[in-house]
Amino acid sequence: MKTVGLRFPSEVKEFACPYCDKVYKTEKGLKEHIAKEHGDELKAEE
Ligand SMILES: [Zn+2]
Repeated sequence: MKTVGLRFPSEVKEFACPYCDKVYKTEKGLKEHIAKEHGDELKAEE
């Protein structure tokens, strides 16, 4: 059975957006996504 492409090591953490289904490999990427896509939602929660 051949593997296609690279397999991610199980240790790699994923940063899943709590507001949608997006998943990022870095916390920075996730935070930037939240600020851009969900900034209004964050403000509305306060
Ligand atoms: Zn999101």
